[in-house]
Amino acid sequence: RAKAAGRNTMRFFDPEMQAVATARARLEADLRQGLQDKDLLLHFQPQVNSAGRIIGAEALMRWQHPERGIVFPAEFVPLAEETGLILPLGRWALQAACAQLVAWARHPDTARLVMAVNVSARQFHHPDFVEEVLTVLRYTGADPKKLKLELTEGMLVEDMEGTVAKMVELKEIGIGLSLDDFGTGYSSLSYLKSLPLDQLKIDQSFIRDVLIDPNDAAIACAIVSLSHILGLSVMAEGVETEAQRSFLVSHGCQAFQGYLFSRPLAPEQFRQYVHERVMAEN
Ligand code: C2E
Ligand code: MG
Ligand code: MG
Ligand code: MG
Repeated sequence: RAKAAGRNTMRFFDPEMQAVATARARLEADLRQGLQDKDLLLHFQPQVNSAGRIIGAEALMRWQHPERGIVFPAEFVPLAEETGLILPLGRWALQAACAQLVAWARHPDTARLVMAVNVSARQFHHPDFVEEVLTVLRYTGADPKKLKLELTEGMLVEDMEGTVAKMVELKEIGIGLSLDDFGTGYSSLSYLKSLPLDQLKIDQSFIRDVLIDPNDAAIACAIVSLSHILGLSVMAEGVETEAQRSFLVSHGCQAFQGYLFSRPLAPEQFRQYVHERVMAEN
């Protein structure tokens, strides 16, 4: 025991910490290279309404690493946020999502769909963000009414006035605004009413046990009610079972995303998925 404790005490040159730092530096260099080599891609996860129709998709970033295969955002988005790499990465994602919207607009199956794109705090607070969005829209020719940006609570608490002004500008362009992971942040209800939002997205942590844990059920239902009171739409994320879906429907939730419908899909798989669903409807 004494030996184990000794091994865990801080040392000046801790080889384990050194290894972590090296791995991070390697990851950062790889990511920079990946961005340059166009090794990033988007997958699209369907979003459906209570009638089961596909109404849109969320664009989710993936990194096709030359040696490691597909790497998920949990492994590189936090690092990208720390290093600032999220700025070019986020710009790339927005551009790729808008290009996909234009491709969807050409086909009747997908022409109505709305594209939701995640925006990181650093990206949103960058002084040129709105200008960048406009540039991407102009360059791709995407319809701003079909674009929805997913923001998170944490990024909206600082500089309330500037944040609202920026959101208003985005809304004036025609872009929709959704509050992602809602319920996990620290937003006060009083400022929620002054944010020009269109949608609340109930975080998946409340959906997971919505049928088992009465507290999660109460929170999910409260978010649905809150969205109605504030005149916003509401979407549940992480819906995995039909029982969860029908519970949420019976409590007034209108839109859903989760493995119950589909995992995030590569563009061609997504097109196929939508096509099959449209054929089944007719
Ligand atoms: P998010 O925006 O909350 O996205 C939802 C995450 O939940 C996605 O993970 C999705 O694959 C996963 N998910 C969807 N349905 C289910 C389900 O039924 N069960 C479970 N267990 N999970 C489900 P993913 O793709 O790994 O993305 C993780 C996070 O990375 C995202 O969370 C978002 O915060 C961030 N992210 C992804 N793409 C981007 C991007 O382009 N830009 C920025 N800034 N962040 C991104
Ligand atoms: Mg999201
Ligand atoms: Mg989310
Ligand atoms: Mg999340």
